[in-house]
Amino acid sequence: MSNPWTRLATFRSKSNPLKKYIVALKEDGTLGCDCPAWKFQKGGKNHCKHLQALLDDDFKASAVELTDAGANWMLKQVAKLG
Ligand SMILES: [Zn+2]
Repeated sequence: MSNPWTRLATFRSKSNPLKKYIVALKEDGTLGCDCPAWKFQKGGKNHCKHLQALLDDDFKASAVELTDAGANWMLKQVAKLG
């Protein structure tokens, strides 16, 4: 089976600089992250500060890496906002 997730960006943990969290986009359009905040949200919004940083165009401050897919995704978000 192929991996339905496309990596968009990598963030460094502020509490532990050795830790990195990956924000990815699923085939169905869902955003995901592999940080504990995102994983342990039960029944809540699909959300964490990393996804928020990406949505806020604040990734430059905290992201380690933005992939080509991530850059394309961000351009699409900007286009949606007009
Ligand atoms: Zn996260």
